[in-house]
Amino acid sequence: MNLILMGLPGAGKGTQAEKIVDTYDIPHISTGDMFRAAMKNETALGLEAKSYIDKGALVPDDVTNGIVKERLAEPDTDKGFLLDGFPRTLDQAEALDKMLKELNKEIDAVIDIHVEEEILVERLAGRFICRTCGATYHKIFNPPTVEGTCDRCGGHDFYQREDDKPETVKNRLAVNIKSSAPILDFYKAKNVLHTIDGNRDIDAVFSEVKQIIEKR
Ligand code: ADP
Ligand code: AMP
Repeated sequence: MNLILMGLPGAGKGTQAEKIVDTYDIPHISTGDMFRAAMKNETALGLEAKSYIDKGALVPDDVTNGIVKERLAEPDTDKGFLLDGFPRTLDQAEALDKMLKELNKEIDAVIDIHVEEEILVERLAGRFICRTCGATYHKIFNPPTVEGTCDRCGGHDFYQREDDKPETVKNRLAVNIKSSAPILDFYKAKNVLHTIDGNRDIDAVFSEVKQIIEKR
């Protein structure tokens, strides 16, 4: 099962991705996570990505396409994969098509999680992440069961993303709204697009995600 999760920042891609990969045992390929790991390790890729991410801009297509191409060449993707946050431009969608053709693979479903902009701002402002395992929480909507302890790994160290600051969020949303429209058309034309309402509780969204996956 080769899947793409789409949706604006804060729509719930990372949250649903955790559940999908735990249920279906496929690798989670998040370009945002890959850039953050590179920034943490201060690699050349990380330093380049940081200059864009800090402004809420997109990292250039050639850089982003390159890291995805390398990742899709790893053997663990033979059992399927979940792309999260990629593609984000039409150029990336076309590059992905080419990569998959070379690998003799295709996308089975694109799940677009739709949430209104006002709600996204609220979600991003309250988002925090476990530093040990990357699990995502929200101060109000999705706190850990035991305050201060990660449900997934038991860790106690959490952080807020630099790019979730209100001044960056505005630009991120504007950039992503503009770039995502042509990608949705691209996958609609291929008959693989499923748009779902992401403004429901996390389990209700996941139950629809599962229905889509199991129908394919
Ligand atoms: P994305 O990966 O699309 O940027 P996240 O999965 O990180 O989004 O979710 C953004 C924030 O919203 C997080 O704080 C998360 O806990 C919260 N969240 C995710 N899904 C829901 C939902 N269905 N209802 C309320 N809050 C949610
Ligand atoms: P995310 O974790 O998906 O919200 O991504 C965080 C940031 O990483 C984005 O705001 C972009 O700056 C960058 N990024 C992630 N994925 C991509 C992509 N596919 N294309 C360009 N930039 C990306």
